[in-house]
Amino acid sequence: MALMITDECINCDVCEPECPNQAISMGPEFYVIDHRKCTECVGHFDEPQCVQVCPVSCIPVNPAHIETPEQLMAKYLQLQGRAALPAAGQADGNERD
Ligand code: SF4
Ligand code: SF4
Repeated sequence: MALMITDECINCDVCEPECPNQAISMGPEFYVIDHRKCTECVGHFDEPQCVQVCPVSCIPVNPAHIETPEQLMAKYLQLQGRAALPAAGQADGNERD
């Protein structure tokens, strides 16, 4: 599953540099996670790094983007193989499917 950041985020800036996939960025009001890039840290770490460092525990799984460990590994490999996913260059924090 990709993770998501809730409006409990206090914009502490701690998680953004910890993400190995550059999936976290500042949104209109608080930080957001690009579900196309979040592998729940599969391929990089045993635990989601953003969850580990968040001081207010506001990063749950994103129920709109349920993925199996196999799908997350496939996403990791895709991200490794390319500088960016096809639409990631236009990533603006808006969710699109
Ligand atoms: Fe980035 Fe990992 Fe957090 Fe996903 S779980 S946003 S890949 S740090
Ligand atoms: Fe927001 Fe948590 Fe990230 Fe801090 S670590 S910016 S509170 S999501």
